[in-house]
Amino acid sequence: MTIPGKVVAITGASSGIGAATARHLAALGASVVLGARRTDRLDHLVAEIETAGGRAVAARVDVTAPDDLRTLVDLAVERFGRLDVLVGNAGISRLSTLAELDVEGWSAMVDVNVKGILHGIAAALPVFTHQGSGHLVTVVSTSGLKITPTQAVYAGTKNAVRTLLEGLRQESTGGALRTTSISPGYVRTELVDQAIDDPTVREQVQQTMAEIGLDPGAVARAIAFAIDQPDDVEIGDLTIRPTRQD
Ligand code: NDP
Repeated sequence: MTIPGKVVAITGASSGIGAATARHLAALGASVVLGARRTDRLDHLVAEIETAGGRAVAARVDVTAPDDLRTLVDLAVERFGRLDVLVGNAGISRLSTLAELDVEGWSAMVDVNVKGILHGIAAALPVFTHQGSGHLVTVVSTSGLKITPTQAVYAGTKNAVRTLLEGLRQESTGGALRTTSISPGYVRTELVDQAIDDPTVREQVQQTMAEIGLDPGAVARAIAFAIDQPDDVEIGDLTIRPTRQD
């Protein structure tokens, strides 16, 4: 395994996939650096990981603020001496047809899902370049692979991130930087709770998630698989979905 001793920063670590990834990587011996806005949740997670014998620190991070990403990366370097992996996981979903003109929701998704990743790149890339190695993992979505009604903007943000990562890969020479896009299908998390305004539709989707959605730990294991490769191996794209998903 290459994970023990690695330093991994994770955005959106306060719930769902991010929290599960933090637990899993810490249990495998990584030092984890957690960022999100709900610091009470992060503090509980740090305590849980430390009680289990792992290493974790946390900072309040709003990914729409470039300085917050720099704080997260600086914390990794100050506390653990380096940053091996940034997992750009923080994300939001606001589902509606384009004709509903939810301009505010579109902007919010672009700000968090796309600019949030760019802010992570701006913070981590100088450190990766200085070290001569680094790995950017992003959590995108199967929504970007199969576009369905109400998901055009959400899917667009996820495909924008896929494009950014391929651009980064093309620009990085000598194999010093690895990039990975993880595309989960349905996962049982809090994401849907804020995504849909209509309570009837929201309950239907929540019901589907409860019935067939993956446990977030499944995505955490996929992320760990990508991180755990030898230095000369890059997992570029990885799709993980429930067997019962359309
Ligand atoms: P959750 O809602 O449980 O987690 C989302 C995380 O993002 C939270 O930790 C939240 O933390 C954080 N977040 C949201 N906005 C911001 C912000 N402005 N700054 C910092 N952190 C922020 O959902 P998931 O675990 O499902 O979502 C994680 C990722 O997985 C997202 O990118 C999502 O798009 C993607 N995904 C999820 C799928 C699913 O079915 N659940 C399927 C495919 C992809 P806080 O509010 O504390 O800041």
